[in-house]
Amino acid sequence: MKILEKTELAPFTTMRVGGVADKICFPTSTDEVVNLMDGVLSKNEPWSLLGGGSNVLVSSDEIPGTVICTTGLNWIEHPGPDLLVVGSGVRLPRLSAYASRLGLSGMEFYEGIPGTVGGAVVMNAGAHGWSTHQILETVTILNLKTMRLDILTPKDINFGYRMSSINSTEQIVLSARYRLTKDTEEAIRSRMKENNLARQKSQPIKDPSAGCTFRNPIELNIPAGKILDSIGAKNWAIGSAQVSCKHANFVINLGNANSHDVCKLISKLQQAALEKYNILLKPEIKPLGIFDKSEAIIWTNADETVKNSFIITK
Ligand SMILES: Cc1cc2nc3c(=O)[nH]c(=O)nc-3n(C[C@H](O)[C@H](O)[C@H](O)COP(=O)(O)OP(=O)(O)OC[C@H]3O[C@@H](n4cnc5c(N)ncnc54)[C@H](O)[C@@H]3O)c2cc1C
Repeated sequence: MKILEKTELAPFTTMRVGGVADKICFPTSTDEVVNLMDGVLSKNEPWSLLGGGSNVLVSSDEIPGTVICTTGLNWIEHPGPDLLVVGSGVRLPRLSAYASRLGLSGMEFYEGIPGTVGGAVVMNAGAHGWSTHQILETVTILNLKTMRLDILTPKDINFGYRMSSINSTEQIVLSARYRLTKDTEEAIRSRMKENNLARQKSQPIKDPSAGCTFRNPIELNIPAGKILDSIGAKNWAIGSAQVSCKHANFVINLGNANSHDVCKLISKLQQAALEKYNILLKPEIKPLGIFDKSEAIIWTNADETVKNSFIITK
């Protein structure tokens, strides 16, 4: 298993923000994950879990203990005509390209989402009218309370908009089994291309970001980006963190942004939406590492988004 010590986490995230982690481990098998977690939990050490780093804000200060990065769990199996069983560290664009080559449809929406299977299951990642739970058959998790492997069906998991009941601090997604449908590679590729074009038009895909900053407040049926745009938030900047001029729900890193800049900008956006519309926007981005209490409030005042995350306040 590859282990890096005193290593910056920024390169392991799509926003390119994050300080030095004590230790990053890259397990490549279920056994390695189990042994690693046995050791970490028995010593009562701090730990956190990272997939593709495309939906996290990592602290620029301290990331104590062990970061378990799942990208080494990157195997794909094709055990039946319409089935794929996939390690949780497989990147979604690779998976969707793989499925298209086999003439398997259902994962076209994964093209362009830069996360891993584990992150997609936990976040119920979706796009273009599709969500992860619709194509999942089972999910294998390591239950950290019992240290047993459990196989869950979608009925065992509460999936909602960009959320699931899987709690990353207690359950590690190891693999997922997907049931897809047959189609021609050409038709699948054409839908992937269409999805990509739509994304290119509306999102700053070339700028470092962690995707959508806030969850859409579904109870109001207005996208968070529209709310922020109407406030005039596009181009607002603090340090090197800027609200994208293309999509107001994306915070981009102009080059040297740190987590303090990003937190201040997110807080300013939250404050503005609260003052103008009395709406508390809830972050979709998850925190990882140590944050000041004044920064952590971005998440802690929107309770249910914190339960799945690795945040330590000082
Ligand atoms: C340019 C861009 C576009 C995006 N577009 C979309 C989109 O269209 N739709 C969408 O839904 N999202 C989108 N995202 C957000 C992001 O890619 C997804 O949420 C993705 O599913 C996150 O996966 P990840 O592996 O990167 O997770 P990470 O960011 O690494 O982690 C996110 C959370 O999941 C937990 N986690 C990660 N792996 C596991 C695991 N194996 N077991 C348990 N917990 C785990 C982490 O601890 C963390 O709390 C976009 C992001 C970017 C940068």
